[in-house]
Amino acid sequence: MCVFCKIVAGEIPSTKMYEDDEMIVIKDIEPKANKHYLCIPKEHFALLSEMDEKRAETVKHCLSKIPALQKELGLENGYRLVINQGEDAGQTVHHLHIHILGGEILPW
Ligand code: AMP
Ligand code: ZN
Repeated sequence: MCVFCKIVAGEIPSTKMYEDDEMIVIKDIEPKANKHYLCIPKEHFALLSEMDEKRAETVKHCLSKIPALQKELGLENGYRLVINQGEDAGQTVHHLHIHILGGEILPW
């Protein structure tokens, strides 16, 4: 099982900010911004290129839920979403996840 599957299963501890049937939002263990969260679909797949209809619905759900959590996550002033895909992007965990970054003016 990959590290995010273990987090979803509760086998590895995490700071969970939100959970529903399809996804969780946790704090990144090595924050790259003042506020850094990960939105992780519960189903394991690594790449957007592995998308099917169900997965597309899940990604859509994630993208509509994140703005609903904006205030709770302390991101009233804005935030940036990042999805690393593959080697050149430096993807280290091969379970799709959306980085949510903010809490400061982000350097490009
Ligand atoms: P990526 O490089 O896009 O694959 O991002 C993986 C992210 O997962 C990195 O920002 C890591 O800091 C983060 N990460 C790895 N292990 C954990 C963990 N156990 N709990 C929370 N975040 C983690
Ligand atoms: Zn996984």
